[in-house]
Amino acid sequence: MSTPEASPDDGQMYVAREKIHPREVKGPFQTLRNLAVVVLLGIFYGVPWLQWDGRQAVLFDLPVRQFHVFGLTFWPQDFLYLALLLIIAALSLFFFTALAGRLWCGYACPQTVWTEAFIWMERWTEGNRQQRIKLDKSPWNRRKLLRRGSKHLLWVAFALFTGFTFVGYFTPITELAARTVTFALGPWESFWLLFYGFATWGNAGFLREQVCIYMCPYARFQSAMFDRNTLIISYDEERGEPRGGRPRGVDPKERGLGDCIDCNLCVQACPTGIDIRQGLQYECIACAACIDACNGVMDKMNYPRGLIRYSTENAMEGRPARLFRPRVVIYGVLLLALIAGVLYSLTQRIPLAVEVLADRNVVYREVDWETIENVYTVRILNKDREAHEYALTVEGLPGIEVLTRADTIRVGPGDTDTVVARVRVPRDAAEGAGNPFRLIMQSVSDPEIRTVNTRTGVVLATEEGALARQLLPFKLGVGGRIGSGRQWQSWIALADVVGGICHLLDADVEGPVNLTAPEPVRNEEFTKTLGRVLRRPTLIPIPVFAPALRYGRELVESLLLVSQRAVPKVLTASGYEFAHTSLEPALRDILDRPAG
Ligand code: SF4
Ligand code: SF4
Repeated sequence: MSTPEASPDDGQMYVAREKIHPREVKGPFQTLRNLAVVVLLGIFYGVPWLQWDGRQAVLFDLPVRQFHVFGLTFWPQDFLYLALLLIIAALSLFFFTALAGRLWCGYACPQTVWTEAFIWMERWTEGNRQQRIKLDKSPWNRRKLLRRGSKHLLWVAFALFTGFTFVGYFTPITELAARTVTFALGPWESFWLLFYGFATWGNAGFLREQVCIYMCPYARFQSAMFDRNTLIISYDEERGEPRGGRPRGVDPKERGLGDCIDCNLCVQACPTGIDIRQGLQYECIACAACIDACNGVMDKMNYPRGLIRYSTENAMEGRPARLFRPRVVIYGVLLLALIAGVLYSLTQRIPLAVEVLADRNVVYREVDWETIENVYTVRILNKDREAHEYALTVEGLPGIEVLTRADTIRVGPGDTDTVVARVRVPRDAAEGAGNPFRLIMQSVSDPEIRTVNTRTGVVLATEEGALARQLLPFKLGVGGRIGSGRQWQSWIALADVVGGICHLLDADVEGPVNLTAPEPVRNEEFTKTLGRVLRRPTLIPIPVFAPALRYGRELVESLLLVSQRAVPKVLTASGYEFAHTSLEPALRDILDRPAG
């Protein structure tokens, strides 16, 4: 592969760029390139407008950190897929380069594709190669102003639409369109639209081949992936030389000439302005325009096609070409294995992420003489597009159990929820310092089943629960408020718990429902009312440590100290009629202490 030689005449390192006006060519490779441009640009501009399940099919929603790709939603936690995608892209590049040279550069690279589209617009407005060169040289006049102006108008419109489409991959494109036409774009949207539009206009309109020659790293290292069997675009020197002009119909051999008529059309067609007859050069992007140009000349001269053709170094030297070389096979196998692995993993992907963090403040605690408890914070991320009910279970030790705020935890689509999980194990089952166990989070929701999650307040019953536990100190006259007493306390009579659940079995209700009485009270009011009903004083506040010793600080805090003012909006709206709406009548009824 040759490299450009330094100009020997003036010894300067910098050579001013000569503007290149590639000649339009016709032929199968140009048709293929045109097709590639239409298809690839069609995909880029069309995909953001596709809808899937009622939302934009491909949307990289950065603010909520969700990446929707048709039916799949990816999260930052799925970074592995992005890494695998990049590895697949790199391996594909290695594979296709080893097999067929710079296919990517010639047909699919965005720089090539957008430059081609910009050249089309240049031809429509400024004419063919000769006309464009003439226009460059002509002084500024009305005609030049009109042609140049219309070219730039087209370029700028196309570039801005490109910037708009790019932003449309990150912001719902229909909303973006509505905001664009009303000039209501946000600052970031405006910045990226203009920035990407400007980059397109500059790269495809002006920099063009300079990006490939001076800026693209791939052009520099692609030769490392080449071998003597890689497909390259080559000039058949043996057949073409010595080159020279001759009239049509003359046998070149009679004149001691090769097949190259030195018409220079291959050079004029080249978008990077090189002469392929000087051998393979790193500036060659393998676009095959020179093949089409030369084949046209060969047809006119009645010579066989292929003076410039796709070939390999071995084939050009008359040696057999080998398609399946070790590097091609290794790249191919790795690529197939990786693609298969990613597809398999996508089909097996569980749309749920769970993080378990141990309570840093407490290593473990003894609940009573027989039970040991560890507390964990479990963060659930529902990565699905449906809401799910999750149940947390535990296994690994005899008698082990896990307690959470409810049997199931409902997490909406794309939502996260955090629950405190208290893992309890009988003292006899735990041996030594480390006892491995496994927390299992499972979705238990069935889309066919209507699910209602009830959240109860303090249940007023004498057999079990918070009221039952407070009765003895209150009856002994040592009951009192807990903490400041200002915290709200939601309560419900046992009869209404049963009645509410029976009502919900038939009601047209789904999701969370507060199973609490309509009139929550503060703890101090609850305390006074209970004392009045029992005819006992309630002057001495209960220190927090007393119930905390018995039931654990966290339970006491979450039940008795944290303000909970839940009102039964959904239950009332669904038509349920409470047996007890006010605290005192409810307590009198439950404790069998009639007024008076
Ligand atoms: S030498 Fe031929 S294949 Fe290479 S860039 Fe020029 S026209 Fe394209
Ligand atoms: S187009 Fe073909 S014939 Fe013309 S100069 Fe190039 S190689 Fe020679």
